[in-house]
Amino acid sequence: MLAKLEIDVPMCQGHGRCYEVAPDVLDADENGIAVLKSDEPVDVERARAIAATCPEFAILVKEVR
Ligand code: SF4
Repeated sequence: MLAKLEIDVPMCQGHGRCYEVAPDVLDADENGIAVLKSDEPVDVERARAIAATCPEFAILVKEVR
């Protein structure tokens, strides 16, 4: 199963954990806020693992078929 990630921007504090573990999926803007590199879905388990790196719960996982 695949999932899309979504960043809850107001929740993001720019810790950078997410884009350090998944630089192929996420990047930082000029303020360190996480941005998605692509709208393409990723494996759902990987999406959950990426989301779990965020201490602010700012990464949402939306399953797609
Ligand atoms: S780990 Fe969470 S708070 Fe930190 S940059 Fe990523 S989304 Fe933002």
